[in-house]
Amino acid sequence: MEHGKHGKYRIKEEHMCLAVPGRVIEVRESDGTRMADLDFGGVVKEVCLEYLPDLQVGDYAIVHVGFALQRLDEESALRTLKLFEELGLLQEEFGDPWEAAAAHGPAAQVPAAARRAARGRAGRSTVKYVEEFQNPELAARLFERIRATVTRPWALMEVCGGQTHTIIRHGIDQLLPDEVELIHGPGCPVCVTPLEMIDKALEIASRPGVIFCSFGDMLRVPGTGRDLFQVRGAGGDVRVVYSPLDAIRLAQQNPDKQVVFFGIGFETTAPPNAMTVYQARRLGLTNFSMLVSHVRVPPAIDAVMSSPDCRVQGFLAAGHVCSVMGIEEYPVLADRHRVPIVVTGFEPLDILEGVRRTVEQLERGEHTVENAYPRAVRPEGNPAARAMLADVFEVTDRPWRGIGVIPDSGWRLAARYREFDAEHRFDVRDIATVEPAECRSGEVLQGLLKPHECEAFGTLCTPRTPLGATMVSSEGACAAYYLYRRLEAGPRRSEAIPVA
Ligand code: SF4
Repeated sequence: MEHGKHGKYRIKEEHMCLAVPGRVIEVRESDGTRMADLDFGGVVKEVCLEYLPDLQVGDYAIVHVGFALQRLDEESALRTLKLFEELGLLQEEFGDPWEAAAAHGPAAQVPAAARRAARGRAGRSTVKYVEEFQNPELAARLFERIRATVTRPWALMEVCGGQTHTIIRHGIDQLLPDEVELIHGPGCPVCVTPLEMIDKALEIASRPGVIFCSFGDMLRVPGTGRDLFQVRGAGGDVRVVYSPLDAIRLAQQNPDKQVVFFGIGFETTAPPNAMTVYQARRLGLTNFSMLVSHVRVPPAIDAVMSSPDCRVQGFLAAGHVCSVMGIEEYPVLADRHRVPIVVTGFEPLDILEGVRRTVEQLERGEHTVENAYPRAVRPEGNPAARAMLADVFEVTDRPWRGIGVIPDSGWRLAARYREFDAEHRFDVRDIATVEPAECRSGEVLQGLLKPHECEAFGTLCTPRTPLGATMVSSEGACAAYYLYRRLEAGPRRSEAIPVA
């Protein structure tokens, strides 16, 4: 941790998935790029404004991995920041990932709030848990509205891992009427990064003369027999960065080294990484490359709905993904599968509102796309970010961990940027791997199995000894169940669900 120039503390590293609202306190040009300092409830960080060039001092925006992606009104921003602070998410977001990775273990993984929640649930009452919501009266009204609406069983899938985390942390699924089941979808980028890509990262990070840069969430993701944390312990130069642009700076500062950035994630993370490759070419860097494993949400929804065993009848789409991409890709999916899709945020009341709207559509027999997160999502998304994506990346088939190849579900570097492709530069294209047979994360990611229904859950597989990525990432469904549900009396085994 170091002190920033505004007298607040500045922290170097973070987890990768959260988009946090911040207030602009200073704008400047740096190396031909529009940059700013933003205040995140006391933490000041440098942020790239290239995707929101009109942002001015005093404005608020949601920021992901050092890039401002969408404007936010002050009231929403302050409310979200307050909630993040109360839940300890700012510390999770801006804390030291090396410390977190080193302390990775069962006791450390269960925060006090989760322990209290788990203890209390033995004799839970709706009122008690509704009181834990930010606006208990509104939460109670939404629960009541859902109860009054639902007349038969419905299965909804929340796409985003951040939504899953909120649902499990607040026990929303346990408070909903029995007729409404929430199925946890594949929206955790760490979880779906295929094992072969982790092994390629480990191979490159182990090579002499390489500085391998990653977000903190990837440190403990198990490859075949080891992880990045262990590679660093064995002498590899593995660095955790806050923004992919930090990797550019490292390349400029270390011309005798090859700097490689691990570019994974959904449509929220892809624009920052696209900008980084664009900047590397603009600056003429020959010692920078990116190991790219980006994935796209709409083809995953299509694949889930196309499975013969699919039970999903409605989707809560990922709000932050839509803040970049807009909602144009969803109507065709809603029509094709006759399924309502409601763009939803990740705070407890957002989730409840998304559930309410989805259930009301289902009860009316409708299947339209609704935007329940208009404070951060415009129909067109962020046009500047989408234009950069179209320039730097091209759509490709992509394997998803535990699921297999989903057509057109990923991005790779476009041919004109191929010189920055680490797979080619380090010739690791042919590494092939076999997933551990005991890990059923593929079924978890498709909503076909609840984490605690896996035989290894909490025994062979814990955050200290993860068998699959869904137990590692803070957004992974297995980790969320371990954090918030493992202390409950006895596993709750639902009816067997056929495997695709
Ligand atoms: S509990 Fe562990 S082994 Fe089971 S599906 Fe989750 S990550 Fe895989």
